[in-house]
Amino acid sequence: MASNYHSTRSREHAVTAKRAILDGLAPDGGLYVTDALDESRINLGELIAARREGTYLDVACTVLGALLDDYTPEEMRACVQGAYGSWPSGTANVTPVVGLGGGEWVLELFRGPTSAFKDVALQMLPRLMSCAAAGSDERIMILTATSGDTGKAALDGFADVPGIGICVFYPQGGTSEIQRLQMVTQAGRNVAVAAVRGNFDDAQSTVKRIFGNKELAERLATRGITLSSANSINVGRLAPQVAYYFDAYAQLVIADSIALGDELDFCVPTGNFGDVLAGYYAKRMGLPVRKLIVASNANNVLTDFLTTGVYDRNRPFHKTISPSMDILISSNLERLLYYESDGDCELVARLMADLANEGRYQVPPELLARIQETFACGCATDDEARDAINGVLHERNYLMDPHTAVAWHVSQSTSRAEGVQRVVLSTASPYKFCRDVCEAVGTIDTPQGSDFACMHAIEDEMRRLGVGMNLEEAPAPLAELEGAAVRFTDVLDAGQMIDYVERKTGELL
Ligand SMILES: *Cc1c(COP(=O)(O)O)cnc(C)c1O
Repeated sequence: MASNYHSTRSREHAVTAKRAILDGLAPDGGLYVTDALDESRINLGELIAARREGTYLDVACTVLGALLDDYTPEEMRACVQGAYGSWPSGTANVTPVVGLGGGEWVLELFRGPTSAFKDVALQMLPRLMSCAAAGSDERIMILTATSGDTGKAALDGFADVPGIGICVFYPQGGTSEIQRLQMVTQAGRNVAVAAVRGNFDDAQSTVKRIFGNKELAERLATRGITLSSANSINVGRLAPQVAYYFDAYAQLVIADSIALGDELDFCVPTGNFGDVLAGYYAKRMGLPVRKLIVASNANNVLTDFLTTGVYDRNRPFHKTISPSMDILISSNLERLLYYESDGDCELVARLMADLANEGRYQVPPELLARIQETFACGCATDDEARDAINGVLHERNYLMDPHTAVAWHVSQSTSRAEGVQRVVLSTASPYKFCRDVCEAVGTIDTPQGSDFACMHAIEDEMRRLGVGMNLEEAPAPLAELEGAAVRFTDVLDAGQMIDYVERKTGELL
């Protein structure tokens, strides 16, 4: 078995992809990376030929097999089939590309079970983990603090997976009504959901402290239980995202919209830097990508970094209408620093120590220049995102969610090379953010009352405008939340979370 994953901060001990997926984070706090990225090149001609006859699943098997090379082809096929085999929009349309005219496309990543792009990765991760743990007695408890989307996508992915339990904590009053209902109505015998009094950071930092609690870890170890995370730093979440870049390219070649070998730009609404990093992996693995455009909201720490080389989290935190991008520490950026410094672990370790100690670091000018060869950037205010939602609806007959709208705005303000088409990644269904979408659309009077009133107002307006493209109706799982039975009503103080977790390991595993 190829043990080719090691930490971004040292090469000292190498592990297999399976171990890296079970561990999540490397023991020194770094992120697992492989040096075989360039050797994992995909034969694009063959991939597209297979895609013509097949589905997204074939692309996923090839790309994931190249990245996670200790899974056998049979194991990988089973994981991929389990994750995407009954995808709501069908196996050919796991991540459909939609044309908005003018060489501009939207890659819809939100057609999964919970209407968030995180489904693409979180339907795979539990299966990759379960397969990696097969044959051992290891049982795993997943802990996740969520500001909304991750929690539901993780619950849906891990529900009833053998040998694994999951506890999700969300800030009381900190999510949209629909996001909350998605979580507290979750089915499955191995899941638990609790509201925490406080904000997302309170829940998140308490989860981190629970991970670091040695006495708890020892007590659980005697029962064969390990705590793990579904966070996007896990390579088992990153790898599945690489596949849709290849699939988007294949869709465009098959539709004769581009020729094999043509370059494409991708513009990505970014928070933790996982989604756009997957595009970088695709480029290293041979996909003809010209620019990767990093789109941020008012929390524009990445725009500043990519412009100046200074990463500085010491700044005000803004609550925006694109909450999944309200992040000041983009953890996956560490992997980019590793690769673009040609694997300089010492440099990465030093920069990350600066970040931990001072909340800021500065990369050497040569490194910034290299990063800028591939990455462009920009940011959008809430008003610019609202204008994008309204403008695209009335000019191009397409409805975007606020996160996608940030990327659309940034894409419009970033220059395109002659003849290079552009794909904007769409990360959530507009029906997850009904109230903000209603308020953005100039031709809707935002109803008073519940978010479901807003949902119906959007549906009515979409039908009136004849938008089509599966946007005239809210996805059924969201519509069905109106009146669904609530299973979880626990409300905790942050201080009660650790006891709750220990109790749940007994009840769920
Ligand atoms: C998580 C999320 C993002 C950000 O993705 P990263 O991989 O963290 O950069 C963007 N949009 C939505 C809707 C999300 O849920």
